Amino acid sequence: MKKPPIISIVLPCYNEALVLPTTTTVLLNLLDNLIKDNLISSSSYILCSNDGSKDETWNVIKNLHVKDNRIKGISLAHNKGHQNALLAGLMTVIDNCDASISIDADLQDDPQAIVQMVKEFINGAEIVYGVRSSRATDTWFKRTTAHAFYSFQQLMGLNTIYDHADYRLMSNRALHLLSEYGESNLFLRGIIPQIGLTTAIVKYERKERIAGESKYPLSKMLSFSIDGITSFSAKPMRVIFMVGLILLLVDIAVAMYVFISYFSGTTISGWASLMLSIWFLGSLILMGIGIVGEYIGKIFIEVKQRPRYAIKDSLWD
Ligand code: UDP
Ligand code: MG
Repeated sequence: MKKPPIISIVLPCYNEALVLPTTTTVLLNLLDNLIKDNLISSSSYILCSNDGSKDETWNVIKNLHVKDNRIKGISLAHNKGHQNALLAGLMTVIDNCDASISIDADLQDDPQAIVQMVKEFINGAEIVYGVRSSRATDTWFKRTTAHAFYSFQQLMGLNTIYDHADYRLMSNRALHLLSEYGESNLFLRGIIPQIGLTTAIVKYERKERIAGESKYPLSKMLSFSIDGITSFSAKPMRVIFMVGLILLLVDIAVAMYVFISYFSGTTISGWASLMLSIWFLGSLILMGIGIVGEYIGKIFIEVKQRPRYAIKDSLWD
């Protein structure tokens, strides 16, 4: 019989001192059950990736590590955001596990789905996406804005898995493929579907945060969405181009109107149409410049090729 796989669970943690003791207890229990059922190796572990937290998070992780060294940790020197904290964690466990599972530290995403993910992995899936079957416990506002976020991305040509956040299992091979992406504007949900290995989906119910509060207000979600779109798709530029093309046709009609007014001797009345076109075109040009600016901004950051994170401390023994 094949040896059961070593599974690592990666938790990005930003100011999660309140939730980590509960979260790690729940996850260790889950690992113990999976070990008992001989589904995973007893060398499976949890890695907490501390994203430059301002509270006691790192001390909490240190204490947890002393109590049980299956809880490991890395600490980023600065707050680099969920995606970078997650990537730092994944790149730390690479080659130290057969598959990694990323899950938010607040356990809003049902950890029980891990059992099914592991089974899918054993059956040959290399990427298993956790997909929310309902968002009943999210507020109406969070739910609506989140759905608007997915639809808008789809419209703008960015393909992501609907209602999948960053709760997923990735095999070691998938992690290696992910490590080939050198971009510093990270949008994992866009990159991972491009990796293209055998995938599976596991559905689960999304719950309330066990403690603390959300670090993803609308403003962060919006900037995340714009980031995703401009990192993966040139569609916004194409939309502007199409609008410009249509306006060119409209301009012909406007020109005809101006000429007719001119030859009928009522030129003063042309003022209204002139003002209208100036305002309309002015705003369009500004929009166009804004979008081109987004891409130039991206190029600017990419060419600098800065390291995406710096690991400050590490608990690895
Ligand atoms: N997180 C992080 N860095 C940040 C913000 C959030 O590592 O700058 C982590 C956070 O600790 C949590 C996960 O990302 O584990 C999701 O954040 P949160 O639960 O606040 O977002 P929500 O579920 O409300 O979208
Ligand atoms: Mg959450």
